[in-house]
Amino acid sequence: MSTPPAYGFETLAVHAGTPPDPATGARAMPIYQTTAYVFDDVDQAASLFNLQTYGYIYSRLTNPTVAALEERMASLEGGRGAICCASGHAAQLLAFFGFMTPGASFLASNRLYGGSITQFGRSFTKFGWKATFVDQTDPENFKRALTEDCRAIFVESLANPGGVVTDLEAVAKIAHDAGILFIVDNTMASPYLCRPIEFGADLVVHSTTKFLGGHGQAMGGCVIDSGKFDWSQSPKYATLAEPEPAYHGLRFQETFGDLAFTVHGHAVGLRDLGPTMAPMNAFLTLTGIETLALRMDRSVANALAVARYLAEHPAIDWVSYAGLPTSPYYALAQRYMPKGAGSVFTIGLKGGYAAGVKLVEGVELFSHLANIGDNKSLILHPASTTHRQLTEAQQIAAGAGPEVVRLSIGIERHEDLIRDLDQALAKAA
Ligand SMILES: *Cc1c(COP(=O)(O)O)cnc(C)c1O
Repeated sequence: MSTPPAYGFETLAVHAGTPPDPATGARAMPIYQTTAYVFDDVDQAASLFNLQTYGYIYSRLTNPTVAALEERMASLEGGRGAICCASGHAAQLLAFFGFMTPGASFLASNRLYGGSITQFGRSFTKFGWKATFVDQTDPENFKRALTEDCRAIFVESLANPGGVVTDLEAVAKIAHDAGILFIVDNTMASPYLCRPIEFGADLVVHSTTKFLGGHGQAMGGCVIDSGKFDWSQSPKYATLAEPEPAYHGLRFQETFGDLAFTVHGHAVGLRDLGPTMAPMNAFLTLTGIETLALRMDRSVANALAVARYLAEHPAIDWVSYAGLPTSPYYALAQRYMPKGAGSVFTIGLKGGYAAGVKLVEGVELFSHLANIGDNKSLILHPASTTHRQLTEAQQIAAGAGPEVVRLSIGIERHEDLIRDLDQALAKAA
């Protein structure tokens, strides 16, 4: 028997998870707008509840439209399985919920999206989970910060807000030498630009709200499991290797093998925490992903053109974009994301906080809002918005000091974007 050729990324982005609907022949993925599914009989219902048969019970756990997106995401990231959920933050919660218990800790880069720093540093402590933030400029800092109770290292492949690339292979090695998980938030790069599992990630998380959808219409998140982590190697990961009382003592790893984390994420994570993705949002995200490759190429080209223009502008102190050869992260970007360093980057204004406020208020084509990864170009002054909850020291550590403005470049014509920034910078001067 011959093995079929492996499809390329662009093909998988259009086809993975969505064959024609077997019931109706519908070519577009139907939106299964239902909360529950009729059982064949009591025996079938019992085997579904015991996780002995794969099937649908209730949409808090699984839904066919959401499952199609899960299959597509696993396929694009080169993972074994995926769990889609209500938002990127829900994905982070589900990722850690799979293996954390009270008193356990993990290490996280201090160059993370501001919302993640707040989620990890504040709300997670209510579960007894402790995050220690590490300066990721030198990967060895993670090794120095390791402790006995540490279960994972969490980084962003490309950091939000700006221009920082993580040395994925170096950090993966430190995690694996310590026998702990390596988790990568790949939101800013998207699987088109970077595939962290190829560089050692055990779990990949996404806010599908951003580039994957691209249209800025649907919140969503996803955890992709590589299927490679051995949960039985340490009692730290007992939730996945030891008997689960709520399922008659079933052991997830023994029963589901490399799908243990994925099944647990639905059967325990989504069941008990409840941040389910709506079928409509799964449909919108599937539709967005069809054009991911085309949109990312265009966004990257536009971002380069805008970054080059801004780097020469007299009102701009610096441009932090790993796609520019002047960036200290250029070499890492070439290694981990050779098709481009994304389209979100930061600039420093010579006029400081006041100039930042004037710039975001002076643009006409750019939208002033707290999002990234939209087809439309977006602008934000983090210090006065997303990062205002952080102390000034944390803001600076996160690359979001008072003079910093974040741009997320869309798929418009780049000359129009440059003209808009030009007139707004003139007003801000
Ligand atoms: C937006 C974002 C998140 C959070 O995702 P939501 O969908 O807003 O919950 C997490 N990480 C990164 C890098 C993000 O950009």
